[in-house]
Amino acid sequence: MKQFNGKTILDKIAIGKIYFYRKQNVIRRYRAKDAARELERYEKAKAEALETCERMEEKAKKEADDSVGEIFAAQAMICMDEEFSGLVSDYINKAGMTAEAAVNLAGNVYAERFESMEDAYIKDRAADIKDAAGYLIEYLTRADANAGPAEPAIVVAMDLTPAETVRMERENLLGFVTRNGSFHSHTAILARSMGTPALLGVNVNPAWHGKTAILDGEKGILILDPEESLLEEYQKKLLLQEKEAEESEKEESGFGDGKSIRLCANIGDVCDLDKVKRSNVAGIGLFRSEFLFLSRKKMPGEEEQFRIYKQVLEAMGERNVTIRTLDIGSDKKADYFHLEKEENPALGYRAVRLCLRRKDVFKTQLRALYRASAYGNLSILFPMITTMGEVEEIKALCKQVREELRAEGTELKQVPLGIMIETPAAALISDLLADEVDFFSIGTNDLMQYTLAADRENARLDALFDPSHPAIVRLLNMIVNNGHAKGCKVCICGELGADVSRTEELMRMGIDEISVSLPALPGVRRAVKRALNSENVTSL
Ligand code: PEP
Ligand code: MG
Repeated sequence: MKQFNGKTILDKIAIGKIYFYRKQNVIRRYRAKDAARELERYEKAKAEALETCERMEEKAKKEADDSVGEIFAAQAMICMDEEFSGLVSDYINKAGMTAEAAVNLAGNVYAERFESMEDAYIKDRAADIKDAAGYLIEYLTRADANAGPAEPAIVVAMDLTPAETVRMERENLLGFVTRNGSFHSHTAILARSMGTPALLGVNVNPAWHGKTAILDGEKGILILDPEESLLEEYQKKLLLQEKEAEESEKEESGFGDGKSIRLCANIGDVCDLDKVKRSNVAGIGLFRSEFLFLSRKKMPGEEEQFRIYKQVLEAMGERNVTIRTLDIGSDKKADYFHLEKEENPALGYRAVRLCLRRKDVFKTQLRALYRASAYGNLSILFPMITTMGEVEEIKALCKQVREELRAEGTELKQVPLGIMIETPAAALISDLLADEVDFFSIGTNDLMQYTLAADRENARLDALFDPSHPAIVRLLNMIVNNGHAKGCKVCICGELGADVSRTEELMRMGIDEISVSLPALPGVRRAVKRALNSENVTSL
């Protein structure tokens, strides 16, 4: 039995076998019996890698110059090279290799051959061969690596991106343990919103794969190969935890009566809908639509999005549903967007910055949202606003979409439009922004990251995320006052809303709505009730 400490994300327990999650591009299978299937996989990967090279070539020619474009053209030629393909086929057919192992070996053989040449130009082509083989291997290994465990397990990894996390089957995720990752990262938020216990900063080891473990989120420890008596003790605790969760679901909300504060839920997937409905919340305060995009290999089209939004709205009936438009970029990346690597992704091409450039993507989502509006009580929320111009452009686009849909004979409802206040710029011009929109939703995760100049992905900076920092308190007060002065409803949907030590203060500030992940609801509900009974907030 061994014990490891980590930074806890949720005070829950998980017991199960460890599944060590390996990244894409890791070759896990070397031998295959079905050569025909491996050849088929290779042909498919070749087509995809070729498409990548061609796209990169076009982009490089447009954005850099022809010489950069030629690098990708050379890589495309390698992908299609008959001799290279012949070598790969031989390794598959004669040596019984998997497609990825065969490409890897052929790539090395080819690269070595080029490296041994006299001509400096040809020598340099070895790097292109390795790149081209890398693309092929990436396509060949992605599906395997992204699937996660096939049965319930505690997933252990060096790190997990939000996309990798949402692609795993929810019922198979008992808990997460990672080496990297910070408390405010999207992966940590995902774990909390899924109610999945998680530990960060643990010195993980691939050799743990298959071992039995206890993840104790209350104590922040992982126990490997626990003794029988300890396992029994924890199994009892786990039963108790499940019983308590069932009971807190039944608790009455007791608010939503205008007297105090509306309590809503943050979700990112339709599979949470049943729980939301049972939890007596006033509505969905934040539906992170980007998780729908991250969990798919292809961008969901208008019809698919429409069906999902309609399902959410119908399920919630009269209750309000705030759907946030795509907040992709930074740490939330989907391969099919082909986003470039950025030096400072959190300050980069993200959310509405991307959507306003990719109008095809943005309009598709807006059309699906407006079409779904007829089926419930929808509000649309726009993330990462920094300028008035962005809001004007967004509103013009919404108007255009509404007019187009009306002209097509589609039934539409009035849809309140809101913006995330999650950059200091938006907070500082919130008096002006309040003239333009119906509501604000304060994204404290990003607002704190940008105000405190502390990368939310950097675990070493977690301590800087202090919600009582006067800069944060001042900004929150400013946003609420500026919003209310113009009749704008002010909600909070960042993780600070789940910090029960701040609930009373948020209520005193006059926040209209707190929206938190489902597991955080019972605690916040109790804190609101306590605050309502306390003398400090009776004068609300
Ligand atoms: C926030 O920034 O507080 C927020 C709610 O958005 P996200 O965490 O998805 O960036
Ligand atoms: Mg945010």
